[in-house]
Amino acid sequence: LLLQADINIMKRIHFLFLIYLSFHCSQVLGQKINPVIVIHGGAGVIERGSLSENEEKSIIAILQVALDSGYAVLTRGGSALNAVEKSIIILENSPHFNAGHGAVMNFDGRHELDASIMDGSNLQAGAVAGITNVKNPILAAKAVMLNSPHVLLSGEGAENFARSEQLELVENSYFTTERIQKSWNNSKLQRQKGEGLNPKNVYKFGTVGVVALDQDGNIAAGTSTGGMMNKKYGRIGDSPLIGAGTYADNETCGISCTGHGEYFIRVGVAKEISDQMAFGNKTLDEAVQYTLHKKLTGMNALGGLIGIDKSGNVVMGFNTPGMYRGYRNQDESVVRIYAD
Ligand code: ASP
Repeated sequence: LLLQADINIMKRIHFLFLIYLSFHCSQVLGQKINPVIVIHGGAGVIERGSLSENEEKSIIAILQVALDSGYAVLTRGGSALNAVEKSIIILENSPHFNAGHGAVMNFDGRHELDASIMDGSNLQAGAVAGITNVKNPILAAKAVMLNSPHVLLSGEGAENFARSEQLELVENSYFTTERIQKSWNNSKLQRQKGEGLNPKNVYKFGTVGVVALDQDGNIAAGTSTGGMMNKKYGRIGDSPLIGAGTYADNETCGISCTGHGEYFIRVGVAKEISDQMAFGNKTLDEAVQYTLHKKLTGMNALGGLIGIDKSGNVVMGFNTPGMYRGYRNQDESVVRIYAD
């Protein structure tokens, strides 16, 4: 009889414990996180005085629109992935950045575009490289991630895939702007005269990238670019390479890079930062200090990056005179061009 009473008490304790556990779990699961978004429009030799007042104003305005549109997706309960896509499309459609309309030209005067996107909740990723006729390369990257068994498609194959996904296609000339045509003409002239290229043109990167943390704690990152001006032989930079120009993992952080891609590939910058957090016990800021300001700067590699960690901390680091950038969370909305 005594044994039966003990068993009953044990059963009750067990039952109460289960109720407590399910209540606690639902609280944890239902808990919403304050969303955060950070964007860049490229690092490079952007000094005060290098932009006209009008250029400065319209660049700040479009960065703000991209930031606010992505943030609105997040505050409505949308996913980090959708916020990244939304903001990048706005930047790709703007003539001010080296992505989509306004992308740089290769040696032959054509545009070859690269983009990538990653979902930190499941480590799925998609990317395209060297495409010439897809209006918004970030949509092609996302389609590769969601609707193909692959991660990275290139050239004609990627374009055929984009067509089969019914993505909007354009003539290659759609990507040309007056500013890019002029700077390509100048570089051609300099080449013909046997002069070196003006570093102010070469090191004005303009790639766009976005990282977001949504209310469910999911992180996503994306990057889109025309690559480097005058690139030859089907050159591909870091932007479409998962782990180099883009990376996202809910356990650590999301990263999007801009800069001299060859160095970013060699260092594997975006994954390097995530790994330093995972295995080196570093904070996001410490990992960026080491990877960007020590390692890359030590190699004389120019560029910058943005990132968000799982707690919503933001970094916007660069070792160039400026970087188009901004972030927004529940307390702040900041857009900047120059270092100071
Ligand atoms: N990282 C890009 C590349 O090397 C260039 C850029 O950031 O503008 O292709």
